[in-house]
Amino acid sequence: MSHAVCNSCAYYEDHAVQAAAQLSDAGLCRVNPPVAPKEEGRGVWPTVQKTDWCGKYATLFAAE
Ligand code: SF4
Repeated sequence: MSHAVCNSCAYYEDHAVQAAAQLSDAGLCRVNPPVAPKEEGRGVWPTVQKTDWCGKYATLFAAE
């Protein structure tokens, strides 16, 4: 399953909106709600690389 990577997952957002610097090969995983770090007041989504993967990979959102 070499195609089942973050870059083709329904939960991958192709830009790092929460990072000060844009990462060309990374994006956000939105499969779960954001997590609030101790130092900041707002939540953040995990940053993943396009070639990362996990067991929640999906081609459609669960609600669809
Ligand atoms: S970490 Fe898993 S759920 Fe999140 S974008 Fe990557 S494959 Fe999808």
